[in-house]
Amino acid sequence: MKLHGTKIPHNKNTADKAPVALPMPAEVVIPMSMHIGRPAKPVVKRGDEVRVGTLIGEADGFISAPVHSSVSGKVLRLEDIRMSSGAFVTAVVIEPDGNQTPDENIKPPEVTDFESFVDAVRESGAVGLGGAGFPSFVKLSVRDLSAVEVVVINAAECEPYITSDTRTMLDKTEYIFKGIDALKKYMGVKKFVIGIEDNKGQCVRRLNEFCSKTEGVETYVVSSVYPQGGEKVLVYNTTGRVIPQGGLPLDAGVIVINVTTLAFVGEYLETGVPLVSKVVTVDGTAVSEPKNVIAPIGTPIKDLLSFCKAEEPSKILYGGPMMGIAVPSADAPVLKMTNAVVAMDEKEATPPKTTPCINCGRCLTHCPLRLDPRAISRAYKLKSGEDLESLCVDLCMECGCCSYVCPAKRPLVQTNKLAKAALRDYKSKKEDKK
Ligand code: SF4
Ligand code: SF4
Repeated sequence: MKLHGTKIPHNKNTADKAPVALPMPAEVVIPMSMHIGRPAKPVVKRGDEVRVGTLIGEADGFISAPVHSSVSGKVLRLEDIRMSSGAFVTAVVIEPDGNQTPDENIKPPEVTDFESFVDAVRESGAVGLGGAGFPSFVKLSVRDLSAVEVVVINAAECEPYITSDTRTMLDKTEYIFKGIDALKKYMGVKKFVIGIEDNKGQCVRRLNEFCSKTEGVETYVVSSVYPQGGEKVLVYNTTGRVIPQGGLPLDAGVIVINVTTLAFVGEYLETGVPLVSKVVTVDGTAVSEPKNVIAPIGTPIKDLLSFCKAEEPSKILYGGPMMGIAVPSADAPVLKMTNAVVAMDEKEATPPKTTPCINCGRCLTHCPLRLDPRAISRAYKLKSGEDLESLCVDLCMECGCCSYVCPAKRPLVQTNKLAKAALRDYKSKKEDKK
């Protein structure tokens, strides 16, 4: 049996649109936290000259990532900006000189073994580009390499509108396979499965051309039923392996890596250019000319929206409409893990009217993990940590299928997020009492 969620409109309007470069922004705002873990520490000050790829923030601790300048120009100031999480983070604001001069230290890394490979991935500033933002070198810092039995390459790109991974697969196929070669050579991985949905025929054909010349790599085509790109879902549907509750893919012998992250690693090993720009899909009901845009990291989103002729959006998201996060304002910058900016018109952005639950059970039957969002909502309302624990709300991957299918338009995924926080609190209080 495969894990499924629900059928949703794909709206992949930009799949055939090759990325186009955005005109140089007037300034870029580069936050020191574009990853899970501790923010980077700024190593530049007002007035400093920087180039493309100059280190502007060094990693602070093991779970952290360095940050590089995406433009050549002058540092205008360091300021605290509010991120979509609500937290304030220091950002380096740079005025581009328009020349995009590369930093003179940029050169391909010297990689000879596993340690130097992991070091190179750390220096590149790579983080999970599928939206997770977890520092990639941490994921690859495996103590026992024999535990990695298969690498699942996440090419499902199941969120509506987003086609930036699709463009990677079509435009940077060589680099995906250079990344695969590196994982083979330095980590000893022998088996790779590229999990991809059946609505991306062109990508499947392109990838299969390369697979036929590369030992140990195959595509696994899954039905385009959302959320195939969910880590637990994709691992199970492509390998039959189950990631244990509270565990990591590695506990099931698997590393999961997003296809664009892998292509970036392959490209970095060849060029030494760190993570400084992104292909961002700009689409949504408020966008007149949807495009895939190549933007320096730190570019204000309003520049992308004006380039794609967005009409006064009522709501702007980082990411797609199912799992995307609302941005605090159109001044918010493109981050390392920004794969899409979706701008909604008033009609799409207006939350539907909520009515009482009719106990239809659709939320349960469409949950890919067979959780019971209706019971979770009840337990959350009753503040029952015990019930939330037994209902396994911590497994919820916040895919939004339950909210999408609910005829009463209950805010189920929103409640689940709050319920997960309540369960963490309950568990930590339980630990304290021991
Ligand atoms: S309960 Fe969580 S995992 Fe299940 S459908 Fe809802 S959001 Fe997705
Ligand atoms: S889908 Fe909505 S109405 Fe149906 S049981 Fe779940 S919460 Fe209730």
